[in-house]
Amino acid sequence: MTDLDNFFNLSNDYFSLSCKKCTFEIEETLKTDEDAHKALMVYPVNNEGLNYAFSGKQGLCLTTPHGSIQNENILGKLISLPGNNAKKVLHFFEEHGYLLPISTEGTEVDVVALVEILNRIKATVLLMAALENPSLDHDRILHLALYLLLGKQVTLNGTSQISYTTYRHPFHDNIKNQVAVDSLQQSSDAESITIKDMIYAPSYGLNADEYDDISNGETFTYDYPGINDTLYRHLAIAYKQNNIQSKNLRLIVEFLFHYMHSVGIIKIVTLDGGIEYYGTPNHNRFDERLKLAVVPFARLILSGEINYNTRSIKPFYNPNSLEPSWKAPSLLTALYFSAFYMKPGSEIYRKCANPSCDKYFLVKTSNSRKKYCCDNCRNANNQRSHRIKVQKGK
Ligand SMILES: [Zn+2]
Repeated sequence: MTDLDNFFNLSNDYFSLSCKKCTFEIEETLKTDEDAHKALMVYPVNNEGLNYAFSGKQGLCLTTPHGSIQNENILGKLISLPGNNAKKVLHFFEEHGYLLPISTEGTEVDVVALVEILNRIKATVLLMAALENPSLDHDRILHLALYLLLGKQVTLNGTSQISYTTYRHPFHDNIKNQVAVDSLQQSSDAESITIKDMIYAPSYGLNADEYDDISNGETFTYDYPGINDTLYRHLAIAYKQNNIQSKNLRLIVEFLFHYMHSVGIIKIVTLDGGIEYYGTPNHNRFDERLKLAVVPFARLILSGEINYNTRSIKPFYNPNSLEPSWKAPSLLTALYFSAFYMKPGSEIYRKCANPSCDKYFLVKTSNSRKKYCCDNCRNANNQRSHRIKVQKGK
């Protein structure tokens, strides 16, 4: 074993997270002046502690108190959960622990927030895999990155002191604070405004009348679906003002503005439903320059997401063994830490090729042959293909 391998294997001595098993109950609470309100509650099972370790091959694992692995690849199991099956989702948490610490009095579960957080973890891991894949699927990369950037922000409660809110990229506050300067003062008769541009280098010509309509929220000369959308207006102003100092933020603004301006203005992005536009999108205008830019754009979104979600893991120097270790405050952080520690260029999560199986498994990027999560799935799918062949032969 090389030193590098060792670095990725963090047994319970090197990786500490204490969690308790949990259980869910549906309770009816009667509030004054209100109808009975049904709440999903989560409680810790006090006598049953859970121990975790981190392995380079299996990711985050459940172990015995002495460190032998009981239940491997927790992150892979989590992203394989079908989002529409509440029973399976709750069962997963009963077995592996809840995302956040919970108090003995119980915590009410906001199911919408919980599902959204699971979707974000899934999108993060799938985006990592899509960016590692040798044949780039630009539409998939775009969808996953846009979902992480534009998806709605949710908060999940743990104990009364601990709650978790999903990441909101600084891009949002940056473009909100941009103020439109009347373009007439700058170029009285010019038909187009020349803007320095990294994607359409060296510069891009934006129609002055169109910019006036977008930035003023009016439709004098230009009228197309979504032209009054607030995000689009903020984007257009930030793009034209061009005074964001950070090159990374500027790339996000440029990419998103050009994409919406060319392909279509985005209304909402969800993980299951994809990208929804105001009008009919013109996918042909997702051109080579934009496809080239979507990769660094997605890398920025992915790194922002992972950095935010691993920020509360702490290095801890063990006074007894004089050895380094990591302390995770919650299963949620440990799951992102598991994604954080995936070896770039060597491992990805791949979906099982059996259509009736939802599982994702860890595989070497270079291994293009392993398509199924297990022998059962390979056999089932081979039999299925055989049946189809026989039917076609008739
Ligand atoms: Zn399978």
